Amino acid sequence: MTLTGNLFIGAQEVPASAGSMKALNPATNAEIEPPFAFGGRAEVERAARLADEAFDSYNHTSLAQRAAFLERIADGLDAIASELAQRTSLETGLPVAQLEGEAAKSAIQFRQFATVVRKGRFRQVAIDPAQPDRQPRARMDHRLQKIALGPVAIFGASNFPISYSVAGGDTASALAAGCPVILKAHNAHPGASEMQARVIQQAVKDAQLHEGVFSLLRGGGNEIGEALVDHPLIKGVTFTGSEVGGMALFRRAQQRPDPIPVFTEMTSVNPTFVLPAALAARGAAIGDGFTERMLVTVGQACLKPAILLAIDGPGYGELRQAMLPRITDTPARTMLTPGINSAYRKNVERQRDAGAERIAAGGEPQGKWEGQSVLFEVDGARMLEDPSLSEEVFGPAALLVRVKDVEQLIAIAKQFGGQLSATMQLDPADHPLAARLLPVLERRTGRIVVNAFSHPQEVSYASIHGGPFPATSDSRFTSVGMTAIERFLRPVCYQGFPDDLLPEALKHDNPLGIWRLTDGELSKA
Ligand code: NAP
Repeated sequence: MTLTGNLFIGAQEVPASAGSMKALNPATNAEIEPPFAFGGRAEVERAARLADEAFDSYNHTSLAQRAAFLERIADGLDAIASELAQRTSLETGLPVAQLEGEAAKSAIQFRQFATVVRKGRFRQVAIDPAQPDRQPRARMDHRLQKIALGPVAIFGASNFPISYSVAGGDTASALAAGCPVILKAHNAHPGASEMQARVIQQAVKDAQLHEGVFSLLRGGGNEIGEALVDHPLIKGVTFTGSEVGGMALFRRAQQRPDPIPVFTEMTSVNPTFVLPAALAARGAAIGDGFTERMLVTVGQACLKPAILLAIDGPGYGELRQAMLPRITDTPARTMLTPGINSAYRKNVERQRDAGAERIAAGGEPQGKWEGQSVLFEVDGARMLEDPSLSEEVFGPAALLVRVKDVEQLIAIAKQFGGQLSATMQLDPADHPLAARLLPVLERRTGRIVVNAFSHPQEVSYASIHGGPFPATSDSRFTSVGMTAIERFLRPVCYQGFPDDLLPEALKHDNPLGIWRLTDGELSKA
């Protein structure tokens, strides 16, 4: 695929208006051709107007037409998967095989959302039929469905450069909901972004949709992201990245004359609690399994388990000992961007300054943007004194916490901020303690896992990739899984409507054949 480096505003390719950049190969520190265009407020204005023009027709596509469009994107991603993985690897330092997996996951997500659209349940139809004879007051016919928010801005993630970037889960769920998308590409992988954008742009054309359904913008600083969040025609925002960036955009959106929802996914240390019976029975296996998982993708994953807590007692020594070899045997590896690498180095220093002891370290960095794997250990008492020890270190570092007793374990659990996930390693004898810990974890996390290390996020109906702040800015929603579509929907109630004016999903004879809640009962009637 030939890359032009242009911005995509609908079907148009638009050259730079505000400078350009080249992709950086983080492994060699060499620039990669071609130059990629930067835009500014003028391009945001054009893309937003076009997205707004596209909204009515796109929001009213039939379920079958919209599903077929999503499947076209999936087919397009499959067709370029190998080439896309190669280019993405050059731009991120991530292995090609891992990125092929990401491309496959992206295509699967689009197909899954096509199924969600076809079933029509996302409309969450509720019907309270008229009760003209009800006493003391007649009830009018009430019919509710969810419709798309409007044009949305999506900030591509740096750490999943395909499956949570341009053709990622946010885009799939927004398009499934009926929202035109303006994608703010992450500058860490501009070539990969363009390749994905071309697939979506082609699918828009082939499906004969309004060109404004999708645009791709890129900028050389905060201006373009700020302009997107400020634009009055933008009705929602999703973001994956730093807490500082996410909260700056969130606050900005709340200060608009018409505040809009901003769904940010920001930071999580995904603590693992090793309960005493499990520790005594299989401490070494737990230490090894945890360490293997935390090193995956150079620790640059939102679900990296970063903190392991265990009560000092039988099995603790074995657990600690089992963690060391994987760390010391791991060579320093290239991180995604210079910025992420320097933040990592700073945060590793912060852990040490906060009183954590470095008990194992991997190979010394040779390349400029390599991250050295590190394992710290700290006492539970120190952890309670300095909450900064529970903050994210984005990269291949983990913290082992030597806890004094059960009460201290619960106190530390209560100190954690919101998390995407938390894990309990437990055996049957641990169930009473697990039952005590559970309500503490429920208040702080979106997902609670038992006895697993490798738990990549399923894209399914029951999956949640969310949690209280600072994991996200809105704990009521998920950014992964089929219910991620709900971020892009809002309810509308149609009251006293004649049948011919009702939207398809709400008509009396249910022509779409979808599940509907009628007088509180689910049926297809
Ligand atoms: P980032 O710096 O927050 O940037 C993410 C995106 O938002 C980029 O496109 C960036 O544009 C834009 N942006 C950030 N702040 C903005 C602002 N104030 N106004 C307008 N646009 C803004 O995240 P990152 O580059 O992916 O990584 C930086 C750090 O984020 C990492 O070191 C890590 O700590 C954290 N991170 C966490 C996760 C997680 O899942 N927990 C994932 C990724 C990153 P520009 O690039 O043009 O500034």
